[in-house]
Amino acid sequence: MRIVLVGPPGAGKGTQAAYLAKNLSIPHISTGDLFRANISQGTDLGKRARAFMDEGRLVPDEVTIGMAKDRMSQPDALNGFLLDGFPRNVGQAEALDEILRSESVELDAVLDLEVPEDEVVKRIAGRRICRNESAHVFHETYNPPKAEGVCDTCGGELYQRDDDSEETVRTRLEVYHTQTEPIIDYYRAQGLVVTISALGKVTDVTERAMEALKRSEEG
Ligand SMILES: [Zn+2]
Repeated sequence: MRIVLVGPPGAGKGTQAAYLAKNLSIPHISTGDLFRANISQGTDLGKRARAFMDEGRLVPDEVTIGMAKDRMSQPDALNGFLLDGFPRNVGQAEALDEILRSESVELDAVLDLEVPEDEVVKRIAGRRICRNESAHVFHETYNPPKAEGVCDTCGGELYQRDDDSEETVRTRLEVYHTQTEPIIDYYRAQGLVVTISALGKVTDVTERAMEALKRSEEG
């Protein structure tokens, strides 16, 4: 299957992408991984991306599209893939269509993870990270530490990343609404969109997604 995963920040997209890719035996292609791999391998696209990032500028779509195209042409992706973070605007979606057309293949589904906006803010703004080890993650409501502000695992001080402040989350949501949400309409016109609720336990959401994908394949 060839799937695009979309959803606002805080929808648990990365986690779901990893589970779904594993269940479906297809590679999980995330924009974050593409950037990291191209930059660490020093590819031409990686060098170009680096130059923009070093200047604090946005990486142009053509660079991101180039990286995605290279990755989709690798042997493990020939029979399917799950895209996470790409396309992130209508221009990229059109470029993806063109790439797929040139390979005479099509997308099977665009899985849209839906989360109410206030829930997104609560999920992200409640995160607390340990200063000693960023893998020690807590949540004010969903996974509170035993003592406020102190890491259960190592006793380190817990803090909120700048990226996770309510103000930043609202800005990220705004960017999502204006840039990324229009691709849902773009794909809806192609009859590809499958929307599921991303609320609840991670395993329940994965199950819901698998069911919805199966139904869309049959329908
Ligand atoms: Zn810790």
